Formats: sequence, C-alpha cells, structure tokens
Amino acid sequence: MDHEQETLHSSRAIRLGSHLNGHTSVRATSEPSGSSLCRSILVVGGGIAGITAAIEAAETGYEVFLVEKEAYLGGRVAQLNKYFPKLCPPTCGLEINFQRIRNNRRVHLYTLAEVQSISGGPGNFDVTVTQHSRYVNDRCTGCDKCVAVCPVDRPNAFNFGMDTTKAIYLPHLMAFPLKYVIDGSVCKFQECAKCVEACPYEAIELAMSPQTFRLKVGAIIMATGWKPYEAAKIDNLGFGRYSDVISNMMMERMAAPNGPTQGRIVRPSDGKPAKNVVFVQCAGQRDENHLGYCSGICCLASLKQATYVREQSPDAKVFIFYIDLRAPGTYGFFSQKVQADGQVSTIKGKVAKIIQDPSTRDLIVEAEDILSGEKIRVHADLVVLATGMAASLDEGIPAGVHHDKDHFLLPEESAPGIFAAGCARGPVDVATAAQDATAAALKAMGAIRSHGARVAARVVE
Ligand SMILES: Cc1cc2nc3c(=O)[nH]c(=O)nc-3n(C[C@H](O)[C@H](O)[C@H](O)COP(=O)(O)OP(=O)(O)OC[C@H]3O[C@@H](n4cnc5c(N)ncnc54)[C@H](O)[C@@H]3O)c2cc1C
Ligand code: SF4
Ligand code: SF4
Repeated sequence: MDHEQETLHSSRAIRLGSHLNGHTSVRATSEPSGSSLCRSILVVGGGIAGITAAIEAAETGYEVFLVEKEAYLGGRVAQLNKYFPKLCPPTCGLEINFQRIRNNRRVHLYTLAEVQSISGGPGNFDVTVTQHSRYVNDRCTGCDKCVAVCPVDRPNAFNFGMDTTKAIYLPHLMAFPLKYVIDGSVCKFQECAKCVEACPYEAIELAMSPQTFRLKVGAIIMATGWKPYEAAKIDNLGFGRYSDVISNMMMERMAAPNGPTQGRIVRPSDGKPAKNVVFVQCAGQRDENHLGYCSGICCLASLKQATYVREQSPDAKVFIFYIDLRAPGTYGFFSQKVQADGQVSTIKGKVAKIIQDPSTRDLIVEAEDILSGEKIRVHADLVVLATGMAASLDEGIPAGVHHDKDHFLLPEESAPGIFAAGCARGPVDVATAAQDATAAALKAMGAIRSHGARVAARVVE
C-alpha cells in the first residue's frame, strides 16, 4: 500500500476503510473543501465522552479519527440498564449520537483499534494505530446464521461472564457498528470454518490480519474512561467466594432486558428471585489499600439499582450500607425520592464481613449501625458491592501526558495539544462527561487554530 495513497486532499471519493480489509466502519467520504482539510483531531476512546467530542469537532468542520479498542462504541454507558436521575434507557441517547456519526462524513471510526505511539506536537502529531482483526467484513447484515453453527462457547465479557456467547458473536443487541466479530483467542479457524459456509453474504474472512497505519492530526483528545475496580481484591466481602455477591456493574447487566437473565434480578447460585438485596457502598473506595478516593457516582448508582429491585416485586426489600450517602447538587432530589420508599433502608455503617448460612445458603451481612451503635446482621439473597471507578489506563498513558497517582489524566492540557475528557480525568456522571467532552473538543480546535496548523488529515499506511 502506497503510504501517501489516500489523503483527504484527494479530489475523488475515497473509502478510508477499504485498505484495512473492510474491518473498519469508516464510511466513504468525498472531497472536503478548503482549509477544513488541514484540521484533524484524534479521539482515543469511543464512550460517551469520546463520541461527544468527536461529533462536536466533526460538526464544526474538523476531520476526526475516533479510535476505540472494543468492537463497538458506547463504552460503559452501553452496559447500563437505565440512567439516573430520569431512569430512562441509555440506548436512546446513544442511538441519537450514533445517528449523528452515521450522518457525518468527517468522523472516521476505527473499532478494535489502539494507539501504538504518538510523536510530534500540537498542529502536527504523528500517530501509529493498530487495528485488530474483526474477521467479519462490512457485508455482515447481522442475520445470526453464523452463530447457529459455531461450536465454541466463550464467557461474555459484556455481561461480566454471567453468560456465554459463541466465538462469533454480536457484542450486544444495540451494538454500533451492528457487525459481528470473532474472538480470535478461542476460534478454531480453518479446523472448523463452519461459519464461513453458513454466512450467505461472504462476510467472514478468517484470514484477516491486523493492520497498522499512521495518522497525521493536529490535536488529540484522550477519552479512555474508567474500569470497575476488581471486587475480588476486597477479601472480607465474599466476591469470588459466593456467587450471590456481585458487583454494581454486574447488577446493571442483570437488570437489563438484554442482559444474561433477560432483566430478572436473581440469585446467581440458584436462579431464584432476589427479594432481600443488600448494597455495600465504598467497596474499596476511600480505602488506601484499594481506591483512596470517592468515586462520586456509586451512591447514586446503588440508589438507582434499588429502584430496579423494588420494581420487580412489591415485597422486595433493599438495605444500603454506607459511610456517607453522596448525592451532589440536584441529585439530592433523586436520592430523597428513592429513600421515601419504606422498603428501602439506608444504614450508616461499614460492612465488616459477609458470610453464608450453610443451611439456607442465604448471605449474612454483618455491620455496625453507627447511628445506634448496634451490631446488625441482615440476611440477603443477593449482595451488590458498589465498587469504584478506576482509571482505565494503567500503563498505556502516552509519554509526556500528565496524570495523578491514580492514573487519571490531569484536567488542564494533559500535554501540549493533548486534552483529556470524561472519566479519563476522574469519575463523573454521563452529563458531566458529555459537557467535559464538548470543552475538550473546543480546546483541541483552539490548539490547532493557535498553532496555525495546516496539517493534512490523512491516513498513511
Ligand atoms: C454502576 C454504575 C452505574 C452508573 N450509572 C450511571 C447513570 O445511571 N447515570 C450517569 O449519569 N452515570 C452513570 N454512571 C457513570 C457512567 O458510567 C460514566 O459517566 C460514563 O461511563 C463516562 O463515559 P466515558 O466516555 O468518560 O468513559 P467510558 O464509558 O469508560 O468510555 C471509555 C471508552 O474508551 C475506550 N478505551 C479505553 N481505553 C482505550 C484505549 N487505550 N484505546 C482505545 N479505546 C479505549 C473504552 O473501551 C470505552 O469505550 C455509572 C457508573 C457506575 C459505576
Ligand atoms: S457474519 Fe454472515 S452469517 Fe454472521 S451475522 Fe453477519 S451476515 Fe449473518
Ligand atoms: S471458525 Fe471460529 S467462529 Fe467460525 S464457527 Fe468455527 S469456531 Fe466458530
């Protein structure tokens, strides 16, 4: 492939994705006009922050390269059942944004892709990106015929291993792009190849190989988000020992209609409806042995999840153990509304331990009620650990990008021409992440303008 073959200066219609074996979602684009050609932004991470930054910059006339490591956009928000405070499904908001991406030729999307290196400076960054193989090309219609013949099962990471998918799978029902993907770590490839025969559209390419290419951009937005703190690291709370102790993100998937239990909140150990549910706040947060900071969002998430439990059964009971129940600003109204439910009890006290009653297999949660000074024990069908939000980039922070000791990127310009947005900067709610992303897009555009960049937005292989 000629390194300079495809630039956005080209006067012909080009398809940036075509040289990548069709396993990107980059749309055909035609010649943009004049100086807009010289302005390009790389957005790393396709969660709500990255999507927002990409759309804002593209709709202002900048070429945007959106690089996402997963096979789909949406990040953690795609895994949520409902949003607080309105309790609407996040898919509506995401779908509007996907529509804006579909309709905007300036957004060039690379899924299953990661940045390898960044060099240069504001107005003239040189970025190397590797795109891993999807093994499924753009001809995939999502007909599901391949899944029916695939003999290999794998744990479903989207549902935190609470169910399985085949080696070829759709990441989730509302996935964008709506294209199947093969997990190359478990697929039997040519030994099997059943999916190739079954696919009526010749969409499966088992020989697809990863592609590495370079991008020239004027500014970079890091929107790499957060990851759940590993609950198994907290030894007194039973995660990994008792299957009925789950994390808050597992609860999001369990309550989701497209989740592993089709929305039924049950005890994983026996599938029975979970009627008594305990939430343990600060499961690792504000503890120097785990996450030294408050995640800010987890109290609201548990209050929201209390409504999931309560709407499933009129006699379901919820107990929330907390150190401080945090609901900043107008979220206080949401908190009050949930707590007005007589079946939802909030108890100020740190959970000391969780054990299992061997006869009933009920979980027993032991804590001290700080306000009354009494030791209490609550029998629970299900315990939800409100684990915190850790920075998603442990080691992958590009050289020169400033970060704090917890690996969150610093709020001001992270490095000249590089800006952080959303949870890459620290735990925030969706509204704040989106506002922050708009600000990052403005700063990135400003950096390009102030450096008088005239850098061709281009892909070179
Ligand atoms: C249990 C729970 C429930 C919540 N519920 C709500 C709610 O109801 N309402 C609300 O407002 N907020 C809620 N939140 C917070 C919400 O999840 C965040 O505000 C939101 O995810 C922030 O989006 P983001 O784009 O910054 O990060 P993310 O959603 O983490 O997206 C980051 C993206 O970057 C990608 N990425 C990471 N590293 C790389 C890399 N190296 N290269 C390329 N791509 C990369 C990831 O794959 C991901 O797609 C909840 C949080 C928790 C813990
Ligand atoms: S890969 Fe082929 S068989 Fe599988 S969903 Fe796509 S079009 Fe259908
Ligand atoms: S080749 Fe891989 S994905 Fe296709 S059917 Fe066989 S195991 Fe499944």
